[in-house]
Amino acid sequence: MAVWKTVGNGTLDGISRVAGPDASKLTIILSDTLKPIPPRHTWSFGNVMTDHMVLAEFDPKTGWSSPEIRPRTPLNIDPASSCIQYGTTVFEGMKAYIGPDGEPRLFRPDMNMMRLAKSAERMALPPFDTDQVLALIKQLIIVDRRWIPLFSGYSLYIRPTLIGTRLGLSVAPSDHATLCIFLSPTGPYFRSGTKAISVLAESDIVRAWPGGTGGHKVALNYSSGFLPLRTAQKQGYQQILWLFGDDMKVTEAGAMNIFIVVRRDDGNVELLTPPLDGTILPGVTRDSVLDLAKGHTSGETILPGLLPTLRLLAQERAITMVDLRRWSADGKLLEAFGAGTAVIIASIGKIGYKGEDITLPVHEIGIGPIANAFRTRILDIQEGKEAWRNWSIPLDELQRVQ
Ligand SMILES: *Cc1c(COP(=O)(O)O)cnc(C)c1O
Repeated sequence: MAVWKTVGNGTLDGISRVAGPDASKLTIILSDTLKPIPPRHTWSFGNVMTDHMVLAEFDPKTGWSSPEIRPRTPLNIDPASSCIQYGTTVFEGMKAYIGPDGEPRLFRPDMNMMRLAKSAERMALPPFDTDQVLALIKQLIIVDRRWIPLFSGYSLYIRPTLIGTRLGLSVAPSDHATLCIFLSPTGPYFRSGTKAISVLAESDIVRAWPGGTGGHKVALNYSSGFLPLRTAQKQGYQQILWLFGDDMKVTEAGAMNIFIVVRRDDGNVELLTPPLDGTILPGVTRDSVLDLAKGHTSGETILPGLLPTLRLLAQERAITMVDLRRWSADGKLLEAFGAGTAVIIASIGKIGYKGEDITLPVHEIGIGPIANAFRTRILDIQEGKEAWRNWSIPLDELQRVQ
């Protein structure tokens, strides 16, 4: 008998909640030797790992095992496992920061947990209790706390990963799974720092399509983009601008949500991003940008460096390459930027499309003023320097589990 017991209030957005992994049964085995922390100029995204990891296993007969925090080691996975053969891996990306009070904080972690649960469901992986997983993340951060960088713009990246470990080659859902959570100290995502990046619009290969998996953080979404990424990088661009449809709708930039800033005749600006139609990853940073834009326009807050009277008219709508070319030709295309946890905000300076480049005003200068306003404010909220809607949560205020 499967023990996928539902707990609490039953369903969360249609996802059934199950018992476990039970954070109150956590065993902590500390490493005998702690690694020296390499100097931060040697860190690139995700190349340095901390000392410990969380591990829990799901078995359809017994449910979730008691979770462990233990020294970080490779996993022992059979080559016939579901994740290796059929790509049943889903993950999250979030960060821990040290606040001015010296305490670690997380940024909107409930959104990451909900998204992980939805990704798991999309891949037909066993469900889990999101509060318990968050409690495990909290414990892991406490254990590896010395790895949280103290410099602004640096943080401890958290990678909760759920993999299908069903053994056997039948093409079927994985009823076994391993949850693994590990940490990596990070700084600026791009080697160029906050300098504007260049993107190449990809018109042949698509990242996501209606009914596909683009709206979920599942491993297979990324590997299918590596070939065009390599081609784009050979041509001197840093990332792909993903398009979809005969009308070449702009969808995402690399693994970032995209925003376009267009000047209006009345002096205000439109802040555009594609709607969440299933082909767009529902980014936490995307949602934060939209909310802050509304806050600035309503006068609830003033974003750094922007005139209080500037209205940022946020709109979720389709944007095509024809639109971009027209706005650029009319001198209305002010900024474009990518948004995601790893980069926060990255200005786009150049968009290659069909052998030509659309060059934006920030090209070569660095970050655009509107991108910078969001980047600065989001970072200040994440680092606990500015309060906004309870988005930044000190670890000790996370709901106590047992
Ligand atoms: C993770 C991700 C994003 C950004 O989401 P955040 O929650 O802001 O980190 C955007 N697009 C893709 C494809 C992603 O994988």
